[in-house]
Amino acid sequence: MEVISITPRGYCKGVTKAIQAVKNAYYDPTTKKPIYVLGYIVHNKHVIHELEELGVITLDDRGDSRLALAESIESGTVVLSAHGTDPAVKLRLEEKGIPYIDATCEDVDRTFDLIKEYSNKGYTIFYIGKHKHPEAVAATSLCTDIHLIEQISDIPHTNEKPIFVTNQTTFSLFEIKEIIHSIIERYPNTLISEEICDATRLRQDAIIQANVNVDLCYIVGDPRSNNTKNLALISENITNTKTKLIETVADIDIADLIGVNRVSVSSGASTPSRLTKEVIDFLKNQKPLN
Ligand code: SF4
Repeated sequence: MEVISITPRGYCKGVTKAIQAVKNAYYDPTTKKPIYVLGYIVHNKHVIHELEELGVITLDDRGDSRLALAESIESGTVVLSAHGTDPAVKLRLEEKGIPYIDATCEDVDRTFDLIKEYSNKGYTIFYIGKHKHPEAVAATSLCTDIHLIEQISDIPHTNEKPIFVTNQTTFSLFEIKEIIHSIIERYPNTLISEEICDATRLRQDAIIQANVNVDLCYIVGDPRSNNTKNLALISENITNTKTKLIETVADIDIADLIGVNRVSVSSGASTPSRLTKEVIDFLKNQKPLN
């Protein structure tokens, strides 16, 4: 079977930095233990399990808020995830005397700085992002006059204040175009700073370039990862290629390979490379099935 290994794929600089920050904290004898992570350090459960095996404690934020989780910690050190963190959480940790290491990606931080800058200048902020995603939760905690827009119907009717638009760094290049177009139609003088990060942009573009005459595309990653889900959606909807989002090689259904001669593989920015390599190696060893 012909296998196209799409590049770039896999870990981005922010994910690499965040995982390294946790490991450094764990191995540094001067860092207070235990090491906690509020929410997933990056959105991949295999990464979380590997860190748990070391002894790092991940506090899952799908139930309680990160503020509530911070409240439950009495000692040790906290690592804050690559997606950014509500300042109220940092403040609470400082009040409790719990040291923290902020592993927020610099691209996320740049977006947060823009939000604070334009909010201070008196703008209403439109933030294009996914409801409940930690980056969007942190971004919308930075000021009061901020509106989260996930789809066109979320665009609010607002007052006379000038509007500044920015976005979650892992948003889809295609979905954001439509939303920004609709915002401009309604508010022609809006100031826009589109902040999809280079890692997201390059991975999405690479799929579009690679998926030509491809029978099937596998995206390897965790369904909780926004950038992974976007890669699958772009493959399916923009390149019109049959697409499967899988977490590991064990998720490959042989029935999907019947009649497939050419298959492409990519992975989300938080997917360990060994998981993608296992998928590629498995497919390379498959004979075409009729
Ligand atoms: S996907 Fe982009 S913003 Fe998110 S951690 Fe990676 S480089 Fe940073």
